[in-house]
Amino acid sequence: MTKLSALLIALSLPSFAAPPDWLPSAVIYEVFPRDFSPAGDLNGVTAGLDRLQRLGVDALSPEFTTEFLGAKLSGSRTPLKQFLLNQTRVAGIGNIYSCEALWHAKLDPRRHGKSLSWKEAAKLHKAIVSVLRRALECCLHPAPVFRDPNWWFQGLEQILRVYQREGLPCKRCGQPIKRWEQGGRSTYFCSHCQK
Ligand SMILES: [Zn+2]
Repeated sequence: MTKLSALLIALSLPSFAAPPDWLPSAVIYEVFPRDFSPAGDLNGVTAGLDRLQRLGVDALSPEFTTEFLGAKLSGSRTPLKQFLLNQTRVAGIGNIYSCEALWHAKLDPRRHGKSLSWKEAAKLHKAIVSVLRRALECCLHPAPVFRDPNWWFQGLEQILRVYQREGLPCKRCGQPIKRWEQGGRSTYFCSHCQK
């Protein structure tokens, strides 16, 4: 299934009982962005289509391999945080999951992709996939209602290790979690164990 057909099917559904297996996480992220605006709005659909056509490989698809990520990182001079949020290379990773994946991989969000060793790239790949999978698994009960603006992933906070924990002790080393603004988004990280 192409991204476009997946989007069109998604738009035709009255509501989601749960993200179907065939629906790439990138589609959920792009079509139902932070405000979860109703897909019935034509402007929203057009904007969604534009964004979808620029999407890179979905982070939960078989195409997202260690080799793929390593190759993209090796050509990037962008800080890791911005690299992960840029949906044109790897799609489906939002602000929360980029913070979480970098914490699990013990990588400083300010480092450039090019500076990572192959082993570090492999750790980051593993962290991204496991964080996204855990997020989906944790939050399917009760079933998500993506068109409800008040709906939120109930229980998500239980799996978060670094996001929105500024000043609280790192769950790995005990040092206080730091936060700074990058491109209007908050980045949470541990400067002691993320290198
Ligand atoms: Zn730490």
